[in-house]
Amino acid sequence: MAVYEGLEPVIGLEVHAQLLTDSKIFCGCKAAYGEAPNSLTCPVCLGLPGALPVLNRRAVEFALKLILAVGGRVKQRSVFARKNYFYPDLPKGYQISQYSLPVGEGGKIGFTLENGRKKTCRIGRIHLEEDAGKSLHPEQSEAFSRVDFNRCGVPLAEIVSEPDLRSPEEAYGYLIKLKQILQYIGVCSGDMEKGHLRCDANISMRPKGVKKLGVRTELKNLNSFRAVERALRYEIERQMKLLESGKEIAPETLLWNESKQKAEPMRTKEESEDYRYFPEPDLPELVIDERQVEAVRKDRVEMPDEKASRLVKQYRIRAYDARILTETVELADYFERVMTACDNGRLAANWIITELLGAVNDCRDELKDFKISPTMLADLLKRLKENEITVQTGKEVFKEMVATGNAAGAIIEEKGLLQLNDEKTLLPLVENVLNSNPEKVEAYRNGKTALWDYFIGRIMQAGRGRANPKLAGKLLKKKLEG
Ligand code: ADP
Ligand code: MG
Ligand code: ZN
Repeated sequence: MAVYEGLEPVIGLEVHAQLLTDSKIFCGCKAAYGEAPNSLTCPVCLGLPGALPVLNRRAVEFALKLILAVGGRVKQRSVFARKNYFYPDLPKGYQISQYSLPVGEGGKIGFTLENGRKKTCRIGRIHLEEDAGKSLHPEQSEAFSRVDFNRCGVPLAEIVSEPDLRSPEEAYGYLIKLKQILQYIGVCSGDMEKGHLRCDANISMRPKGVKKLGVRTELKNLNSFRAVERALRYEIERQMKLLESGKEIAPETLLWNESKQKAEPMRTKEESEDYRYFPEPDLPELVIDERQVEAVRKDRVEMPDEKASRLVKQYRIRAYDARILTETVELADYFERVMTACDNGRLAANWIITELLGAVNDCRDELKDFKISPTMLADLLKRLKENEITVQTGKEVFKEMVATGNAAGAIIEEKGLLQLNDEKTLLPLVENVLNSNPEKVEAYRNGKTALWDYFIGRIMQAGRGRANPKLAGKLLKKKLEG
């Protein structure tokens, strides 16, 4: 048991991000998802003899954006290399990648864990490569597999972390942050379901306090960030048990089986992984001059953490809310658009986080298509602030806006929901409640002040939630004590 407790997991992640370029990385074919199989191909991406690759400038620009976004170094010279292996979805028999001289080195990603703890993970390298095609394995009735080459040659950036992560939760936090960065700079959709973002996880165990890395296994076939987390938990448990009983870890590649919640051996490290890399003879060195880097640097967008700090300062919202509001650029933009017509940041943040996000989720909608525009929400908030309606009514109006797509003003008018703000209307309600509860009034005057809430509740009920709570309180106090 002592050994078991003295071990710590060491995790490094390799993430492949499909770059959102219009065309593929070495030919002019469209880089698109979901088109008719094999409709987006040409001699280059099919690897026909004699076809020559030409590097897509835009893919390089996207890689530079990413390298700068994580604070990495852009290498002035980098080299494409052939990674040789046979697979039916790889018609050339090799993948063009980068090996010993990648375009990006270093950098780091800082993130906050779900429990609020902060962590930083260093980036080892970022390189460019081409994607392979896709094998479609047989339905039960078919005795063959199919292959779709549309994905062949779609540009990928591979982001390789240093082995700095120490738990499945940290791996999860890192991935969420990396995806957020990719989406902020607009180089990748981040959509794991469509395979636009893919992750392999390397994991080993070592005694705490020891520098030397243990023997690692690599987990593949991880289809969601939660699957990465679960697979790592499984593998930690498996490696711990082996080490605890004095056995050794075999260096293996394992496939995560999500339905069985199990990692199954795919191949041992010795029998694969000899890719006979050599410099790609059909492509020149990739040379990047300082001007190119400067141009990308100048174009830099505000990153999630910067945006969050700015929102806190500019709109006086809580840091916690700012973090939620900056999860996507889209949500942050929504908030800022509301704020062009609203002067209470906390109120807006609160309504967006609880009511709006809840409604978008319930409708299984996307924020960008949602029927309540920032202007419409700002209008509702203004009516709340000006005491035209109560908070309770506001929520009712909001529900109606979601259901009908109508503006707040129209709903308030149609349903007669204006807040009762004048004494003339409210006083009779207060008097009525007191007159019908003489014993309670007496009890209150004899010191049972806890009855206050009861009276307020009855008055609110009588006003069908529209009574101005402050005014109701003032009138009640006057009647009971004055
Ligand atoms: P390879 O070229 O075999 O894929 P790399 O050195 O590029 O190996 O490492 C790939 C990933 O595995 C990196 O994210 C790295 O941090 C991680 N890694 C390497 N060695 C270990 C280890 N012993 N334990 C955990 N992760 C490791
Ligand atoms: Mg690797
Ligand atoms: Zn092509």
